[in-house]
Amino acid sequence: MPFSNLGLCDPIVRAIEDQGYASPTPIQKKAIPIILSGKDVIATAQTGTGKTASFVLPILELFNKDRKLRGKRIRALILTPTRELAVQIEANITKYSKHLNLSSMAIYGGVDSESQKQRLIEGVDILVATPGRLLDLAHQRALHFDELEVLVLDEADRMVDMGFVGDIDKIVDRLPVTRQNLLFSATMSHDVREMADGFSDSKMSETAVEVSISSNVKSAPSIKQWLITVDKDTKSALLSHLIKEQEWDQALIFIEKKHAAAKLVVQLEKRGIKAESIHGDRSQAMREKILADFKSGNLKYLVATGVAARGIDIGKLSRVVNYDLPFKPEEYIHRIGRTGRAGQPGEAISFVALGDFKNLCAIESRLNHLIDRKEIEGFPVRKEVPISILNYVRKSKPPVKSASKPRNKASGKVTAEKSENTENSSVWGQIKK
Ligand code: AMP
Repeated sequence: MPFSNLGLCDPIVRAIEDQGYASPTPIQKKAIPIILSGKDVIATAQTGTGKTASFVLPILELFNKDRKLRGKRIRALILTPTRELAVQIEANITKYSKHLNLSSMAIYGGVDSESQKQRLIEGVDILVATPGRLLDLAHQRALHFDELEVLVLDEADRMVDMGFVGDIDKIVDRLPVTRQNLLFSATMSHDVREMADGFSDSKMSETAVEVSISSNVKSAPSIKQWLITVDKDTKSALLSHLIKEQEWDQALIFIEKKHAAAKLVVQLEKRGIKAESIHGDRSQAMREKILADFKSGNLKYLVATGVAARGIDIGKLSRVVNYDLPFKPEEYIHRIGRTGRAGQPGEAISFVALGDFKNLCAIESRLNHLIDRKEIEGFPVRKEVPISILNYVRKSKPPVKSASKPRNKASGKVTAEKSENTENSSVWGQIKK
């Protein structure tokens, strides 16, 4: 089916063709006509499925028909959990709207707000924002929401995880009651539905059209997943070995803690491998430079904490490495979604130490299959990791993170970076008998 059959005008279709997209992805086929009809949507779609275009394209179509914009006003607000994702979505809007007369911008923390305020004076059709900076600028009356028509919440599950529910409540309280609501989430949990229900008096989870493309798709099929059992103290040597031995062209390496990211870069450099790290302690300018270098291929190996890596979209990333296995299965799926994007083949390699056993059980239970194990010559394991039991269920919630607060309207702002200090705990949970 061509894009023109979805009800998009010629300038939008041309812009999509310029991107080389041959046909709409499943989420685009499902969501675009519903959004064009003006209905609220709750969509379950993972990163890498083309979800951004599935909400951006119909917004462009709706706004293009009826252009009206006043100073300091915005017509669509796209909320994202991280700066990187905000920048990436705005870049996509710019590409898709290149033949239209519509404006867009991204606002996020970590950079000076003055130029953002200046740009808002004229009004912006589509604003992409992280919650904290948006609230700051709204308090300063740098923008007004009275003409807002569409609210998009992207990566809603991540918003919940990162403790943004209180901020989102505050933002929603400021918006006009009559508007279109679009909620996108990689996973659909009770917390996400509860957040959606807070959007209006009539519960959104009961009134919105639900669109899902991931219920049976545990992860993109083009991703080859495998794991290596390893002792904690040999991880960096193993990584260096694989990079050299298998002549990796590029790798995005996920690690749990900020200081460990910096240390790994030094360890790799000692072995002659040039790498860089991004995490919450690096300045926004530095993160952007490193990301640009990684995207252009000037930087081959990027070590990133989970939060900083959210929203990274590199066209043909061939490989991601879970240097530290994530605590949550959803996080595992998000991470490996960085490779094999839009049908490209990719591989996801996880280093698994004995202490990760319960996290591995949870991940493999969620995938409903065991991940292939590979042995690497020269790296015998002292502490064997048993084979997972696939009906594993966690007994309790993850250890309380400073940034992961329960739903609480009164909760204050919690920054994304705080959650990077979370340890992978594996001392709880149980195997269901
Ligand atoms: P997203 O899920 O929005 O992060 O998109 C993942 C990747 O798919 C991005 O690099 C998009 O540029 C790309 N993409 C989006 N829609 C299509 C399409 N219809 N055909 C091919 N690639 C697409």
